[in-house]
Amino acid sequence: MQNPPGPREAEWTILSLLKWATGYFTSHGIDSPRATAEILLAALLNLKRIDLYLRYDQPLLKSELSEFKSLIKRRVNREPVAYITGKKEFWSLDLEVNPDVLIPRPDTETLVEAALSCLKPMDSSPNSSEQVLELGTGSGAIVLALASEQPKYRYIATDISLKALDIAKINARRHQLETAIQFVAGNWLNPFSPNKPVFDMILSNPPYIPSEDISGLQPEVNRFEPLLALDGRSDGLHAIRQIIFSAHPLLKPQGVLLLEMGFNQKEAVIQLIQHCGHYHPFQIIKDYAGHDRVVVMYKT
Ligand code: GLN
Repeated sequence: MQNPPGPREAEWTILSLLKWATGYFTSHGIDSPRATAEILLAALLNLKRIDLYLRYDQPLLKSELSEFKSLIKRRVNREPVAYITGKKEFWSLDLEVNPDVLIPRPDTETLVEAALSCLKPMDSSPNSSEQVLELGTGSGAIVLALASEQPKYRYIATDISLKALDIAKINARRHQLETAIQFVAGNWLNPFSPNKPVFDMILSNPPYIPSEDISGLQPEVNRFEPLLALDGRSDGLHAIRQIIFSAHPLLKPQGVLLLEMGFNQKEAVIQLIQHCGHYHPFQIIKDYAGHDRVVVMYKT
């Protein structure tokens, strides 16, 4: 990458650098160029984004300039902003992320909302036996959102990736929720056999993209995010199918299973539920973009 044209390096200020970076991102087809420039520069300078506005005239050190250039290069190479900064906000929680975990999506807040509306507020019994199980927790985003809202439940969160569990534990500590959540390594429901009906709720945002669609996703996703968290095998439903068929024995009577799914998987998921025969009633919920996104099913 060439040096930014314009003033000599010593004369670069926050404002002139933001302007230059915005143009550079625009010419490289990067979404939200100005916001991206601001987020990366704020992260580098250890400032809040809003503080940049108060310091527009602040000159940059040579070392800051060269570090900023390397962040810009990473973004132009399509690395997601969240992996460059190591942070992502979800449900107003600041979370640490890295390429071992999926970057939490706004769509997934629909799953959290649906789950919260199923959890009854518990004002008594601190030693409650009400238990919630999250499968494939990744960064811990979902279970942390639930535990921050409903701290009296007992939470268990699993992942098959030990590296993902490390991040989830860091995030739990960061939000003082480490005692509310027990983390377990394992594949979907395997760690919980022999099956006893101990959970009030089981939920997951499992991988649900059909394998052959992965290469057509944005480069930010298919070149940087963990395949393990995205790839739902040939029909995209491998994990969803496995969870639907193996979760019901672990749910208490009237327990609820909630799954995030692809926008075009509604019919197939309904067929799976009917074929399984252990859930009734069930409901499909749309995300804020109007796409079918979450299925809520009650154990019969
Ligand atoms: N919603 C994600 C995406 O489209 C997929 C997440 C998943 O497979 N669970 O990138």
